[in-house]
Amino acid sequence: MKRRTFIQAMVAGGAVSAFGGLGINLSRAAQQTEAFKLDKATITTSICCYCAVGCGILVWSNPQTKRAINIEGDPDHPTNGGTLCPKGASMWQTTENPRRVTSVLYRAPGSSQWEEKSWDWALPRIAQKIKDTRDKGFETKNAKGQTVNRTTAIASVGSAALDTEEGWLYQAILRSLGMVYIESHARI
Ligand code: SF4
Repeated sequence: MKRRTFIQAMVAGGAVSAFGGLGINLSRAAQQTEAFKLDKATITTSICCYCAVGCGILVWSNPQTKRAINIEGDPDHPTNGGTLCPKGASMWQTTENPRRVTSVLYRAPGSSQWEEKSWDWALPRIAQKIKDTRDKGFETKNAKGQTVNRTTAIASVGSAALDTEEGWLYQAILRSLGMVYIESHARI
């Protein structure tokens, strides 16, 4: 039995015993709780997107609409043990926010307008831009004649939403391109 399930069972059992002693029957109330919106929700584990502490979260989502309906700290996560700071506790607003950007937006050079584009359009273009910039600025030797095989024309600022393994994979890909300016920021 997981810690969360155990605590829920203890609380429910304690409440029924306590109120039973007062002659109050909680069985109907217990039946009604079955209709709570979280009962049939899908629970997914994830990590808070805000800072490098990397608190674990549980996301409840509606299986039909696939929309998030609740986010809480994960009590089984070793980093936060179920707690969240106020910023993390408000994370639900990042998923259910009408102002959230959900598609590729492109602003052409010199333009003041954003255009909506598909990922099929964007990904090959990003790859081509990276290759062109890398090839144009690639250095095989430094000023002392030492072999460096690097490009200083591109930099990367990583995200705190990456865990350790993802971060390692990401920097390995960047280094394979010859990039040396690789940084991570805890608040992106
Ligand atoms: S923003 Fe708060 S909840 Fe999120 S990882 Fe940082 S400390 Fe944890």
